[in-house]
Amino acid sequence: MNIYCIGRNYVEHAHELGNAVPPQPIVFLKSGACLRGLEASPMAFAGESYHHEIELVVEVGAHVTMGSGFAPVSRIALGLDLTRRQVQADLKTQGLPWTLAKSFKGSAVLAPLITADGIDLTALSFELLVNGVSKQRGDTSLMLFPVAQIIRYLLSFNDLKKGDLIFTGTPAGVGPIRVGDHFEMRFLDKSFKARL
Ligand code: ZN
Repeated sequence: MNIYCIGRNYVEHAHELGNAVPPQPIVFLKSGACLRGLEASPMAFAGESYHHEIELVVEVGAHVTMGSGFAPVSRIALGLDLTRRQVQADLKTQGLPWTLAKSFKGSAVLAPLITADGIDLTALSFELLVNGVSKQRGDTSLMLFPVAQIIRYLLSFNDLKKGDLIFTGTPAGVGPIRVGDHFEMRFLDKSFKARL
């Protein structure tokens, strides 16, 4: 299973980190070992502070070969793409890969996947609360690259496998968190509580 992530997919988030709006999706990867559920669990680099990035996560529903242009989404979830922001900034300054700022134990928090049947992926709003305070609100209608376009782009350079996950980018409002913080992710009248 692969975990693809999209960077700068919402204009306001690109601007809050001083980044340009990209002409095509920015793609990076997390290793499958980063994945965790909502329960508190060990984190690599636990003494650091991280940034929270709430994101719509989509699951690829079939093995699709490169160039096909379309892959079905079987299930969706909310997730947190936890980021070592200072490490990422340092690596970016040096022109080096961001991998260790994004891919480490516990860095991909995934709420339970729910069926995508009948859900319009272009009109989903979601919210993140940290310790009871609203920090991020997103709406997929504001994505620079909607889910179908992300999938087409990923399929331009590789196959997608059934079960691959795509973190589709975070809206504005990213900010620091600490191990021990309480998270609540909300969408579709559902609420998922997580503990770091
Ligand atoms: Zn992200």
